[in-house]
Amino acid sequence: MRNPKTKKSNARKQRRLSEVEEIELLDAWIESGKPDSGSNPLAFPPPPPSAPVGRLADGGFSPYVGCKLFQQLPISQKTKDGLKRKYTEMSEIQRASLPHTLSGRDVLGAAKTGSGKTLAFIIPVLEKLYRARWGPEDGVGCIIISPTKELAGQLFEEFKFVGKYHSLSAGLLIGGRKDVEAEKERVNFLNILVCTPGRLLQHMNETPNFECSELQILVLDEADRILDAGFRYEVDAIISQLPKHRQTLLFSATQTKSVKDLARLSLKDPEYISVHAESVTATPERLKQIAMEVPLDQKLSMLWSFIKSHLRSKILVFLSTCKQVKFVYETFKKLRPGIPLKCLHGRMKQIVRMAIYSQFCEETSVLFSTDVASRGLDFPAVDWVVQLDCPEDIPAYIHRVGRTARFASEGKSVLFLLPSELEMFRKLQAVEPKIPIQLRKANTQRMQSISGLLSSLLVKFPTLMELAKGAFKTYLRSIKKQKDKEVFDLFKLPIDDFAASLGLPMTPKVRFIQQKTKKNTESEETTDSENNEDGSRPASDEKQHLEGLEEAEDDVLFPKESSVEIEDNPAAVFPLKKPKKKKLKINVLRPIGTRIKYDDEGNIIPPLAALADTQHVDVLVRLDKVKERYEKLKEEMKQRDKEDKVLHRQRLREKRTKEKMKLKRRREEDEEDDDGLDVDETESGVPKKSKLYFHSDDDDANEKREDVRLKTDSVSIAEQEELALKLLNSMHS
Ligand code: ADP
Ligand code: MG
Repeated sequence: MRNPKTKKSNARKQRRLSEVEEIELLDAWIESGKPDSGSNPLAFPPPPPSAPVGRLADGGFSPYVGCKLFQQLPISQKTKDGLKRKYTEMSEIQRASLPHTLSGRDVLGAAKTGSGKTLAFIIPVLEKLYRARWGPEDGVGCIIISPTKELAGQLFEEFKFVGKYHSLSAGLLIGGRKDVEAEKERVNFLNILVCTPGRLLQHMNETPNFECSELQILVLDEADRILDAGFRYEVDAIISQLPKHRQTLLFSATQTKSVKDLARLSLKDPEYISVHAESVTATPERLKQIAMEVPLDQKLSMLWSFIKSHLRSKILVFLSTCKQVKFVYETFKKLRPGIPLKCLHGRMKQIVRMAIYSQFCEETSVLFSTDVASRGLDFPAVDWVVQLDCPEDIPAYIHRVGRTARFASEGKSVLFLLPSELEMFRKLQAVEPKIPIQLRKANTQRMQSISGLLSSLLVKFPTLMELAKGAFKTYLRSIKKQKDKEVFDLFKLPIDDFAASLGLPMTPKVRFIQQKTKKNTESEETTDSENNEDGSRPASDEKQHLEGLEEAEDDVLFPKESSVEIEDNPAAVFPLKKPKKKKLKINVLRPIGTRIKYDDEGNIIPPLAALADTQHVDVLVRLDKVKERYEKLKEEMKQRDKEDKVLHRQRLREKRTKEKMKLKRRREEDEEDDDGLDVDETESGVPKKSKLYFHSDDDDANEKREDVRLKTDSVSIAEQEELALKLLNSMHS
């Protein structure tokens, strides 16, 4: 009788050979039919669905440019098997971009929200690594960057779905995990990293042997957002550590055209693929959009009335700030509208955020959210997107409304605009391609006013009172911070009526408004010429004035940008939060030489004078010398530091290469000898998953998350952990 071990080993060898053959075929097929640079595959006539696929009788290959079905693409059987459980026909962006991305080109892809951009980058990533026969010992082969944790989670799930039959490993690296140590140990054995910028940078800076010098492919989802000012520090630091020779893919519904941005990424002759550029509308066709003029003090009553009259709809409501979200959620919950309510914002714990995200995927409910939910998220079947507060600009509008009417489904959206914000409507109308939006007057007769109810709630619950004040202040601050002054004008807002509409007994004091009013009165007394016709401050003056107050305002309630999610950002140079208690502490972040010293009388000694002997007359001369020496020392240290770093990197690289070679040899030996490891054959000959997936949440969090995860065909966290351990053990033994 034949030894079962030999049988297994033969099967494995066979599989490896057939993989090698498949890869050779794919390489030749892709090479034979790749589209010209700059050409649009959508312009090619699609081959009929029944046409032969792959190698043809005459030795050539079937054409794939212009094809409509995933099965007609030059991609591995494993990817095809992963796809066919849900996807058959390609969407336009997929048809247009895949022939280019599979050929290894850099691509900037733009297509409307909900049009299937995710698969347009997941497929080339899997294929690139598969065709390179990427294994665990090869380390990080692909990095995908997402602006938010929820989106990263969603991309990760889609990777697991489509990549089910591949033996690549993927990890989700997002902020919010208390213990990153475990992650650090494993991160080098992962092939695909799906991450938010902050967390990735943290690993780059802190994980001792983090290596991505072999990176094959970099993807930025929501690329324009990743490249905008909010992530500049992180993204520049990340890019500087990536090898230049790589494939880069950028996708978004509102693509960046800034040459500067693209230069930062050192793209090589990128293909610009914009499938909806000639489209009549910039937003999905099945999306009905209206704008409604609503005075500030009626917004909440209007929202309440809207929810009450749409109790069977799934509604996503966008507000400007975390505190507003909290306030509206908490008060509306107490008023019991008759539909489940949820809230999502950047100040929530990661585990709760993920749970809310998943629940909203499944349940008909109302979700109040900041812009953390505005990009990329694929909530199924959202009926209404309500923008209670005006978006900061047109891309923000497009992404928010894009949470509904996704892929083939329908959706509606309503934008609330203050009378002073109507300019936004005109701007939306002027966009090319068009945003088909209609302006309606609010029907206030059917509106149920809730300010009375809110004020009794606030009297009863002091915490709600605090929330209301917070909502009030942060909203005004958000308006103040907006860049587009044609739309957002703080001084046109009916502040007292607004406070009353939140149920507040008095208008809270907001320093920047009071000072403005005071200054206004003063200047009215002196001269009129400094003010505009409406009595407001001239723009430049106002800017200075507001900037000056920025620091005076001690209540730092706001994210970096008005609509930016705060990411865990341990790499930031300055601490984001102020310490709560004033403890005597050595601030290690303070720039050198700025420590304040006092003499015996309590006078401040200038920084360098403290070093000098003040008894002598030549203090200045000596000071100069001290300074000179100090500079020289600093320079030397810098230089030495640089050298050390280079040396350290080199050593690490050598070490890793050695390790890699060893691991690769061992893997091949294992495959040859069949040492009866955990890998097993299934009937189809497809190996059982040897993947190593992990989430970056803490363990108890993971348990809770099990209940609320997206329903994809995935191994449980426990299984993933077990697999990871097995794999690691087998590598270290
Ligand atoms: P985008 O990133 O362009 O906003 P997504 O990639 O999130 O869009 O896709 C939107 C929805 O369409 C998802 O639910 C996805 O599963 C679905 N989808 C994508 N491609 C296809 C396809 N080829 N066939 C059917 N559904 C698809
Ligand atoms: Mg997307």
